Parts: sequence; C-alpha cells; structure tokens
Amino acid sequence: MSETGKLTSENNLAKMYPELADMWHNDNNSTPSQVTAFSHDEAKWICKNNHIFTKKIYQMSTKAKK
Ligand SMILES: [Zn+2]
Repeated sequence: MSETGKLTSENNLAKMYPELADMWHNDNNSTPSQVTAFSHDEAKWICKNNHIFTKKIYQMSTKAKK
C-alpha cells in the first residue's frame, strides 16, 4: 500500500500538508518530515485553539484533502 510506503522528500506530512504539520504536537517521537502523509500510525495533535488530541495521521490527511 502506498499509504505505508517508503518515506521520501515528497510524501512526508510536512511537504504534503504543512497545515497539519503546524498542528503536530512536540510530544511526538518524530517530526512531520519523518512520517508519511498517509501513515496509519497514531500521532498527537494540537489545534489552533490548543485542543490536544490523538488521531492516526492518515485520518487527518484524508480529512484535509480538498
Ligand atoms: Zn480544537
């Protein structure tokens, strides 16, 4: 599955969804450029209103798709 494929400079979260990278919580063990945009791994997020929540990365990126 491409969703869980190899990380590249083109398919990482920071590159594909900078708006989600802005919500990336510092508690995560990796950075937005170290995960693929449609990874099924869970991550911690913080929204612009300072709500902290946990959600799988692909669930965020799928929702962010225009
Ligand atoms: Zn919120």
